[in-house]
Amino acid sequence: MGFKEYYRAFKAYTDIYSKEYQRRIEELKPHLLRFMKRKGKVLDLACGVGGFSFLLEDHGFEVMGLDIDEEMIKKATEYAEEKNSKVKFIVGDARELSFEDETFDYVLFLGNTTVHFLPKDLSEVFKEVKRVLKKDGVFLMNFVDMRGLLPRIRMGTIVGEEYWISKVTIDEEEKTALIEYKSERDSFRVRFVIWGKTAVELLAKLYFIPIESVKLDEVSYLNVYKK
Ligand code: SAM
Repeated sequence: MGFKEYYRAFKAYTDIYSKEYQRRIEELKPHLLRFMKRKGKVLDLACGVGGFSFLLEDHGFEVMGLDIDEEMIKKATEYAEEKNSKVKFIVGDARELSFEDETFDYVLFLGNTTVHFLPKDLSEVFKEVKRVLKKDGVFLMNFVDMRGLLPRIRMGTIVGEEYWISKVTIDEEEKTALIEYKSERDSFRVRFVIWGKTAVELLAKLYFIPIESVKLDEVSYLNVYKK
């Protein structure tokens, strides 16, 4: 709910040339490359507009990007044309992938995408990731410890240059947060699923073997898994 407005409002996810998007790339790049020494086939799952797909193509990987949102894939495809990129972008659902078993050397799930998925859905995503990964494949997942961030969300800390949080409603069981953002011009609401680090890791452990968890800042992580 409300994700279209959210992504329209925050360039960090939709404008690969913005300083916010570039900052995310610079933060993750050295860590990704450290765990991706061997070249191979990459699935950028929930790729958005594809900034990380292009990064890995530039480093010699064969990349495919998949996202459920047609607008995201349209923009990623436009960027690809502009960059003369060979990355193939397709519309699809991470919970039900159309690829054969053991297709990819790496699956990336970056940019705090967990906020889109209720536990049952994230479980389906992990199951599919495991299926499409090759035997010695690696799963790299970047997420924010939303539970750790909850006190700051509750305080309605100002975010970005244009939008601020004007209202936060957290459901009784603290499973989702309905956040209202406002700017001088407009307002919108978006519902995030609240995933804490422990919950993400417990669920992931049902499907994968942990290799390493890299702490990127106070609340965000890159977790690396094998089958
Ligand atoms: N990974 C990209 C990045 O780091 O820039 C995009 C991250 S963005 C926070 C989350 C993305 O997940 C959105 O582009 C959204 O459309 C996509 N998404 C949400 N549900 C999905 C699903 N079921 N299958 C595939 N993509 C999904």
